[in-house]
Amino acid sequence: MASCHTCMKVSDASHHVCERCGSALHARKEKSIERTIAYGIAGILAFIPANLLPIMVVTQLGVNENSTIIGGVATFWQMHAYPVAVIIFIASVMIPGLKFVAIAVLTAAATGHLKMDARRANKIYWLTELVGRWSMVDVFVVAILVGLIQMGNLMTIRPGGAAIAFGLMVILTMLSAHSFDPRLIWDRLRENEKL
Ligand SMILES: [Zn+2]
Repeated sequence: MASCHTCMKVSDASHHVCERCGSALHARKEKSIERTIAYGIAGILAFIPANLLPIMVVTQLGVNENSTIIGGVATFWQMHAYPVAVIIFIASVMIPGLKFVAIAVLTAAATGHLKMDARRANKIYWLTELVGRWSMVDVFVVAILVGLIQMGNLMTIRPGGAAIAFGLMVILTMLSAHSFDPRLIWDRLRENEKL
């Protein structure tokens, strides 16, 4: 059986179009693995400028100072703002990194390149989806900082190019995780059992 992506009507998977609304029926997400990999690679590419370009530009007494994500973490650490430093590091370096690894592991498991227990693979998928929602925290931190420090005329903070690259990376990794069809893990398990 396959459920229609548009109206949710469940029909026999041998039908190619939904009887009720005429949308195309798929038992599995179309080209799931290809799209997951393509968005994943694009996300990794966006991750590079996100870390190399300045995430914020601080202008103090007419002097511009650029700060990358890691530079920002180091600055907050030196200012003894440890929780802020830790939050930014987790949200902008650790979580995206772990997400790329998780997506790579899932695609490897679903294509049979990696032997993995299906239950564990499903747990990784669930974690990837859960964690994705929190990866924009970094952008919020910059937004809050901009709001806080904009008040004085002596010092201004503007978001830098990395903010755009970072947002792009978050969207691309979300698309990548969303393209992945977790049912492929169970399909692979069934195939392995047949062997
Ligand atoms: Zn339908």
